[in-house]
Amino acid sequence: MVKKMIKNRMEELIQILNKASYEYYTLDTPSLTDQEYDRYMQELIQLEEKYPEFIFSNSPTSRVGGAVLDKFEKVTHEIPLLSLSNVYNEEEIISFDEKIKKEISNPKYVCELKIDGLSVSLLYKEGKLVRAATRGDGSVGEDITNNVKTIKSIPLELREKIDIEVRGEIYMGKDSFERLNEERKRNEMPLFANPRNAAAGSVRQLDSKITASRNLDAFLYHLPEAFKYDIYTHEDALNYMKKLGFVVNPNIQKINNIDELLEYINYWTNKRDTLPYEIDGIVIKVNDLSDQKRLGFTAKYPKWATAYKFPAELVLTKLRDIRFTVGRTGQVTPNAILEPVRLMGSIISKATLHNEDYVKSKDIRIGDIVAIKKAGDVIPRVEKSLKERRNGEEKIFEMIKTCPICGSSLEKKEAAYVCTNAFCDAKKIEGLIHYVSRDAMNIIGFGDNIIEDFYNMEYLRSIDDFYTLKYKKEELMQLEGFGNKSIENLLDSIEESKTRSLDRLVYALGIRFVGSKTSKLICAKFNTMDKWMQATYEELIEIKEVGDVIAKSIVEFFSKEENKELIKRLKEHHVNMEFQGKKTLDNEWFTGKTFVLTGTLQSFSREEAKEKIESLGGSVTGTVSKKTTAVIVGANPGSKYDKAQSLNIPIWTEEDLKNKLKQQAES
Ligand code: NAD
Repeated sequence: MVKKMIKNRMEELIQILNKASYEYYTLDTPSLTDQEYDRYMQELIQLEEKYPEFIFSNSPTSRVGGAVLDKFEKVTHEIPLLSLSNVYNEEEIISFDEKIKKEISNPKYVCELKIDGLSVSLLYKEGKLVRAATRGDGSVGEDITNNVKTIKSIPLELREKIDIEVRGEIYMGKDSFERLNEERKRNEMPLFANPRNAAAGSVRQLDSKITASRNLDAFLYHLPEAFKYDIYTHEDALNYMKKLGFVVNPNIQKINNIDELLEYINYWTNKRDTLPYEIDGIVIKVNDLSDQKRLGFTAKYPKWATAYKFPAELVLTKLRDIRFTVGRTGQVTPNAILEPVRLMGSIISKATLHNEDYVKSKDIRIGDIVAIKKAGDVIPRVEKSLKERRNGEEKIFEMIKTCPICGSSLEKKEAAYVCTNAFCDAKKIEGLIHYVSRDAMNIIGFGDNIIEDFYNMEYLRSIDDFYTLKYKKEELMQLEGFGNKSIENLLDSIEESKTRSLDRLVYALGIRFVGSKTSKLICAKFNTMDKWMQATYEELIEIKEVGDVIAKSIVEFFSKEENKELIKRLKEHHVNMEFQGKKTLDNEWFTGKTFVLTGTLQSFSREEAKEKIESLGGSVTGTVSKKTTAVIVGANPGSKYDKAQSLNIPIWTEEDLKNKLKQQAES
């Protein structure tokens, strides 16, 4: 039964993917996003690995590209044009490198930007362009010579009168893409989904004048038969192509080890927006051509190269409903209730819509297909709605006029609507929920519902009420759903919370703009509650991370009588009022210091090392400069090690790092 369901799902995935490929490659009008397509493809690959008995002959996992249209002459590629395998994260990049190292000792790579266009094969006879063809299905492509001749950056004649085939990517720059879509909008024509589809659509025109008007460009990146020209590395092939008159991307870099590889990827992940054309990843290629030959190909990919794909920043899903919540400050926020979808490793079913202006300006409606983005990597937000995927049943958003909890009227403060009732239950309940939350006082066993019930039953009205619950133990044990044990656990956890460090307590109080990190930073200077309460605006603003808004908010909070009273009561309950973390000490190894990692560490991954350093207030950057405190060196370090030595920056071994982390933990 289960197997039948799996087989059906695989058939369904093949159908979805093949339809999408046809729309994408053949018609240039995709109805899925690349991320959706890649997600379905990954699912199919995984199922095929697990259930090889169900691999169907029409599966797209072993085929390159799409069908070839009849409107162009067909071209058979003597050497097939293949696709590239994909890697999605650091771990997979490292494992690609390790796989290569099993065959080749000390491989060198060339890294290139993965230009988001369509591949093209150019054939020159005696230095003259005689044929240009699309990749098609890898073996048979379409003859697009007349159209390609209109692309100014592709030479019609080379600087040497030779016979040669070169390959590369035709693309449309961001500016041209925007101009084209604006024009199409004015003329009420369907818009291109992205520059890649616009480029593909433009080279596959029957009228070359249209192609000529589209402002296409090209980068060349591959010489299939380099040996013929006495060339033995990919790097030399690129230089030779440049010499012949081709445009080769200027950001290509030779890479000596995994360190430099990760650095290149990191650099372009952050800088990709500054490029005038779209890239969707980084291509990693083994440099030595005899090594490439030794590694060989699968039916679909070369084994000597792979493409690192940038993480999906946006995913699409359906907005089922909009619900309102009231925060601690009384602000009423519309939230999107979504069909669950995976985004950067987690399942998302809710996302913020910020406020009325945001929803209206983006014309987001209930029932829309929406794009979700992780903002600051934590709270996902609805980025936009896909108007072209509406079916007419969508409902227009209406902002509510009264508080969904207490029914009081809402007041508009800048873009936000705020409940006017100072005693609104929602504000208080949210404040209590915040107090017990993990980064605050971490009181275990209090779900949101229990807090709400306790509030409604008047056991909890203010934060300090948590500490009087023990006097009502008998009563609480009678409540439905609470056994002896669960109440005891709850009370134990409340007792334990009295020992939490001051930074958590201050964060738990819910002072506007004071997050847990800010609280910790301020505690390094003001390490008792009394010092916080007396801190002046001028003193606060002296702390590097504290700006005007935070400083004002803190001073205002502690100037209110009701808050002073609350702290007095918490003191009476013996809640700890001192900071237990690191004060700014002289022998501090990490706080405020900057580190660079290079080479492979044995005891932790780079990510873990980075996290550990950051948790102690240090930071990790990718480049060595005079400001670097120390460079931490693992096995096979890269150029950062040499740079550190030339700048006289202290070098720490992995052992040094471990010892200092240990010392810090013990001090
Ligand atoms: P790909 O785009 O993932 O990678 C291979 C291609 O990268 C090469 O063929 C080449 O054209 C290009 N490339 C760019 N710069 C390069 C460089 N410097 N060196 C070498 N190659 C470079 O693979 P693909 O087979 O062209 O397309 C598959 C992808 O297309 C999917 O992962 C998906 O994202 C997208 N797709 C989307 C849909 C959809 O419906 N949205 C449908 C089909 C495919």
